[in-house]
Amino acid sequence: MKVYISADIEGITGIAHWDEALPKGPDYAPWRERMAAEVQAVVRGARAGGATEVWVQDAHGGARNLRPTDLPDAHLVRGWSGHPAMMIQALDDTFDALLCVGYHSPAPSAGSPLAHTLCGTFAEVRVDGRVMSEFDLAAAMAASLGVPTLFLSGDHELCAAASESHTHLQTVPTHTGVGLSVQGRPLTATQEALEHHARLACSRARPAMLHPPAAPLTLSVRFKRPMFAYGAAFYPGARSTGPDTAEVTVSSWLELLTALKFWFHLST
Ligand SMILES: [Zn+2]
Repeated sequence: MKVYISADIEGITGIAHWDEALPKGPDYAPWRERMAAEVQAVVRGARAGGATEVWVQDAHGGARNLRPTDLPDAHLVRGWSGHPAMMIQALDDTFDALLCVGYHSPAPSAGSPLAHTLCGTFAEVRVDGRVMSEFDLAAAMAASLGVPTLFLSGDHELCAAASESHTHLQTVPTHTGVGLSVQGRPLTATQEALEHHARLACSRARPAMLHPPAAPLTLSVRFKRPMFAYGAAFYPGARSTGPDTAEVTVSSWLELLTALKFWFHLST
């Protein structure tokens, strides 16, 4: 069994501020270690559940948080290739499962003090009217390649929402967002739960494939600043839908993520 683990940091147990999540932040170092510890627990569980080949993608910030020494027995994907699948950039149809670790609630949710969707440019991302988190986008893209998403850890609100739409998903809520704070689960309990549920996710019979919404798909984005929406409307096929919104209708999840990736860079 070949599994792909995509790892973020804003859903790692107890993280509560950007000073802890970004390499230039004064409190980053211990949270990088914590991220590695939670990914290691998921790798152990996946292997105990039958995974024979484990790939881990560092999918946070500059994607250089995890070091090869953190995961010496995994294939480690670091840095951004430029592939539009972004947080699952090296996933293809040879994988049997996707596991997401340390994920977080989307903009504009209050589920995490660090809630956002991909970048600070987007105030809200919707597909066919439904608000999408980074997890939703990754799971849909994976499903379009025939790869089921079997495991998710992250903030409580994200896990609860994902469980509703993915009934087979093993989830590990790491903390609950309350205003600008989090209420974290005890670290030892999280560590055990990550390993246990990753093992269950990989050892159970494969669930019936959950098919993502079929094309055509309409991507609608509300931008944090109207000037970003102005530029977005020039993307091929896109249209302006208001002073701070733009949308585009596409024929696949890859095309959808491609549009999103180009819009992502409007602020740079
Ligand atoms: Zn992140």
